[in-house]
Amino acid sequence: MTTTGEERERWFDHTEIEPRWQRTWDEADVFRIDDDETDPEYVLAMFPYTSGSLHMGHVRNYTITDAYARFERMRGESVLHPMGWDSFGLPAENAAEERDTNPRDWTMQCIDSMRDQLTEMGFGYDWDRELATCEPEYYQWNQWLFKQFREEGLVERQAAELNWCPSCETVLADEQVEGEEELCWRCDTPIEAREMDQWFFTITDYAEELLESLDDLDGWPNNVREMQRNWIGKQAGASVAFEVGEHGAVDIFTTRLDTIHGATFFSLAPGHPVAQEIAEDNDEVAEYIEMAEEADEDELDVTSGVFTGEYATNPATGEEIPVYVADYVLTDVGTGALYAVPAHDERDHEFAEAHDIDIVQVVEPTDDADADPEDIDVQEAAYPEDGVLVNSGEFDGLASAEARDRFVEEFDGEHRTEYNLRDWGISRQRYWGTPIPMIHCDDCGYVEVPDEDLPVELPEFVHTTGNPLDAAEEWKQTTCPDCGADAVRETDTMDTFVDSSWYFMRYTSPGMEAAPFDAERASDWMPVDQYVGGIEHAVMHLLYARFFTKVLDDLDMVNGVREPFTNLTNQGMVLGEDGNKMSKSLGNGVSPQRIIEEYGADTARLFIMEAAQPEKEFAWSPEGVQSAHSFLQNVYTLVSEYADGEAGTDADPENGDDIADYVAREIDATAANATAEFEDFRFNHALQAVRELVSLLRRYQEATTPDADTFERGLATAAKLLAPVAPHAAEEMWAELGHDDLIAEAEWPAAEAPADYEMERQLIENTREDIRDIVDTVGIEDPQTITLAVAPEWKHRVLDLARNADGNVVGTVMQDEELREQGEAAADFAKELAGRAQSLDEQLPPEREQAALERAAWLVEREFGADVIVQSPEEADPDLVGKAGPGRPAIDIEE
Ligand SMILES: [Zn+2]
Ligand SMILES: [Zn+2]
Repeated sequence: MTTTGEERERWFDHTEIEPRWQRTWDEADVFRIDDDETDPEYVLAMFPYTSGSLHMGHVRNYTITDAYARFERMRGESVLHPMGWDSFGLPAENAAEERDTNPRDWTMQCIDSMRDQLTEMGFGYDWDRELATCEPEYYQWNQWLFKQFREEGLVERQAAELNWCPSCETVLADEQVEGEEELCWRCDTPIEAREMDQWFFTITDYAEELLESLDDLDGWPNNVREMQRNWIGKQAGASVAFEVGEHGAVDIFTTRLDTIHGATFFSLAPGHPVAQEIAEDNDEVAEYIEMAEEADEDELDVTSGVFTGEYATNPATGEEIPVYVADYVLTDVGTGALYAVPAHDERDHEFAEAHDIDIVQVVEPTDDADADPEDIDVQEAAYPEDGVLVNSGEFDGLASAEARDRFVEEFDGEHRTEYNLRDWGISRQRYWGTPIPMIHCDDCGYVEVPDEDLPVELPEFVHTTGNPLDAAEEWKQTTCPDCGADAVRETDTMDTFVDSSWYFMRYTSPGMEAAPFDAERASDWMPVDQYVGGIEHAVMHLLYARFFTKVLDDLDMVNGVREPFTNLTNQGMVLGEDGNKMSKSLGNGVSPQRIIEEYGADTARLFIMEAAQPEKEFAWSPEGVQSAHSFLQNVYTLVSEYADGEAGTDADPENGDDIADYVAREIDATAANATAEFEDFRFNHALQAVRELVSLLRRYQEATTPDADTFERGLATAAKLLAPVAPHAAEEMWAELGHDDLIAEAEWPAAEAPADYEMERQLIENTREDIRDIVDTVGIEDPQTITLAVAPEWKHRVLDLARNADGNVVGTVMQDEELREQGEAAADFAKELAGRAQSLDEQLPPEREQAALERAAWLVEREFGADVIVQSPEEADPDLVGKAGPGRPAIDIEE
């Protein structure tokens, strides 16, 4: 669409209309939802971390939920679409240090600024439900829930080797350590290992349910479910005991019990109690353990280890095998002890080669395996696949799976399941988080802060290199709730993932003073129907939130809600114009603020939604932004011209009713199509349909004086279909069309495609394509008249028979008495159809085909500048009719 200067005069001024409609929505409480609503549609975006400014990723994330929430609201749903702030965390402490302020003031300033930016984007939230996790009104419930969890036996204090970031001076969860180099997720510093006492949530108690119920989360992307499955890492195996010298039986866990006859050495983790016992009388072992404990995880390779001088007895063979202490055995995985089978495990193989230990093959490929037993040389490399047993005494020839089962009983073992999932360490040695509500008394040990003393509020921020809570002496010193003696507060705060594990429940009753949320309402309103956010949360946030939800249900706080999010969408990235991730160093970032100022929020929203489906990434495109901008302005112009009585031309073609019928059908079809696409989150397809409708309306008013009802309904439909994505411009159009109410609250257009719409659309498309072919091939410069002749009834009958004939089309057709009357012609046509029996689509009956062509004739007239005549088989020249088939009218073009 090109734009003339005259049209431009009618453009709206986004800097005027956007704030005006934002105020109007706010005053009309459009986005507020009453507490007494029953089971509203719950649409939620992952709440933002309070960095102070929105980036394009946020804009995309929130545009998706806002568009969907607005769509559902117009469809008559009551919609819960809240917003809040993930406002605890280290960056606020760092910002406070840099700016010589405190985390609270800094965070509150960030929240104010981000709230303004969200409002400027036109996002419709129920701000009455706003929450910030750094407010005592919120985090007191983290403390209360901590105590509830503790009562349920889900809180433990464990000494553990933790990931320590020396730069952030904080402990990191495993999930916060990135890549093989094991770098801090925030600052990319290599992490170190430290042993500390920490508070843990025993999420492992829920490992099996967290894994199992993934199968039922049909509304989640498969990749996220797979990432969680891998993270939980269930391993079915067995445990058996090896006697280790005078130290007694040592349990091992293995998933490959079938290889037990090939065990040639035994390994203990440095932290294993038996290793520690041996170290008491063995300096070499003691030295190794000390060295291993101090080393960074990546400093030692898999061959690092020391022989203890002790031997373990293999229960399968009765053989004595040497016992090593080796760092590659992890203390907290399995039992911290293992028997090693170098022939069938790569890690064991490497270790055996380095320490010159025997390698004995006990499994070889089965006959139907890809590998040839002759090609396997376990002295060279481990063969880790299943197969059949060899060198296993009486068990030779047994299949691996069978052996695993049988050996459990044979060697007094137990079937056992292990998970990679570890308990969730929630202690953070930082200030800006929820204080853990515990007090340490020298006599009583750890004592809970009584409910009546909650919340334990954060003291004033102290500038220090360590943990500011540790330095807050006055705050730290307290008395023991049990014995009244002097005692100290726990100075660790909670991982901020605790905050985000239940915030979606708090939105149901944000002001609640007696409980974290209203149990009855949360039970009714949860789960979230549509949850949208980044893929980076696939494991941590989404797993913890699932864990919390299950525990809260077990605490009878959300009746029967065991999963928090029914449908999940991970939006793709918005890349820079150069196709790279937006970054400061590349200078390819686009500021939402600048786009709002220059083009308006609607343009940004429309461009983002048209660019790709939500899950796909796309590159920023100034042309795309321009196109979205002028499209909105041009639709508005069309509406405004109509409102001013300036639509249409003087032309008054006699087929005016047909044209109106055609347009009316397209309006209905567009509404139906766009509705289905909105439902499926394919907003770009919906918007493409709206663009096509607008283009049709434009052609309509160029061709004739449009029928007022039809044309206005077309404009209103376009405005409504645009309203979820470009809400300000849509309100402006709606008002221009004379409505006093808000389009945000208007009824979504009735969405049913007209009968046989698809067949009709296909007919028109094919016919226009055929005309173009003829004009091109014959080289017709200036067509005067185009005649379209519809095929006679009997050809439709042949088609029907052909579609239902089993193979013998011609035979079936010629058995029909009426068709036999058509003689050769029927046989020939039947032969023609038989040739393409696979693709005989159903077609409109002749009179409906004729009506459809008459309705669409005006489009052909406009395209080719010729008169169009549609003829019935009776009216048309018999020679011409002879060339017509069902769904393929005969075409005659006169120059
Ligand atoms: Zn760090
Ligand atoms: Zn005490």
